[in-house]
Amino acid sequence: MSQDKTGLNITWKGTDGHNFWTGRDGQIPLAIVDHCMSKGADGTRATLESCAAWFANPRSEVSAHFGVAKDGRVWQFVDLQNTAWANGILEQPDLSLPWLAECVSKKINPNRRTISIEHEGDSLDVMPEAQYRATLALHRFLVAATGLKADRQHIIGHYQITARQRANCPGSGFPWSRLLSDLAAAPGSFQDPLTGFGVSEPFASFWRDHGGLSVFGRPISEVNAGGKAFPDCQAVQWFERARFELHPGGVVMLGLVGREAREYASKL
Ligand SMILES: [Zn+2]
Repeated sequence: MSQDKTGLNITWKGTDGHNFWTGRDGQIPLAIVDHCMSKGADGTRATLESCAAWFANPRSEVSAHFGVAKDGRVWQFVDLQNTAWANGILEQPDLSLPWLAECVSKKINPNRRTISIEHEGDSLDVMPEAQYRATLALHRFLVAATGLKADRQHIIGHYQITARQRANCPGSGFPWSRLLSDLAAAPGSFQDPLTGFGVSEPFASFWRDHGGLSVFGRPISEVNAGGKAFPDCQAVQWFERARFELHPGGVVMLGLVGREAREYASKL
C-alpha cells in the first residue's frame, strides 16, 4: 500500500515481547504523553530504528506506544491495550491535572493511564512538516479511538510527570499551540450529502486515508453496535463497497467486501 503523505499509516513493530505490561491493571487511557527521543543510550541522536532496538532490548526497561520519525513514518511498539514503560517516574508531577493527581493519591503508575508518543529530534528542534502532519494524524486517531479530551489537561509533555530528569522532554520545539488548535478545528467526522448518513472517527479518517469515495463509496448505514455476528467487533458501518469494523484498541478493519474493493482499486 502506498504511503499517504497526509493520512495516518502505522507500521507495527512491537518490542520482541519485552518492556511492557499486558493490560492496564483495570485503568483506561486518559492522556497522551508526548516525548522527544533526544539522544540514545550511546550518546548519538536517537532514531525510530534505534528506539525500536532499545525497546526490544530486555535491559532497557523502557518503551513507548508509538514513535514518529522526522520524515513522517509512524511505528507502533506497544498495543494500546497494554502498558508501555515511558512515564513511570513521578518527579514533581503537575498536580493541576486531576487524573495525574489521582495517580499520586491512589498510587497508580501513570503508565497505566497514558499513551506515549516518541518523536525523533532534540528538545530544541523545530518539527519538520511531515513529522507534524503524522503526529497530528496520530493524535487525531487516538483522541477518536479512546474518547480522551483533546486539551492540555489530557495531551501533555513528559516534563509534567518527570519534572527534573525530563525537563526538556519534549522541549520548547514541540508545537503545542498548533497541535491543540488543529485538533480542535478539524473534527474528522462528515455527513454524506447524498445519502445523509454521517461518518465519525475513527472510520472517517480511515475512509479518507485509504481512498474515500472512489474505493469505498458513500456511507449507506448508521454506525451499528458490533453485535453477536462479530464477537471481536465493537461497531460496524456499511458503505457502498465496504463494511468498516471497529475492533478493540481502536483498530479499523474491513469486512471482506471492503478488502475486495481495495484490492480491485489497487489494480486500476
Ligand atoms: Zn520523555
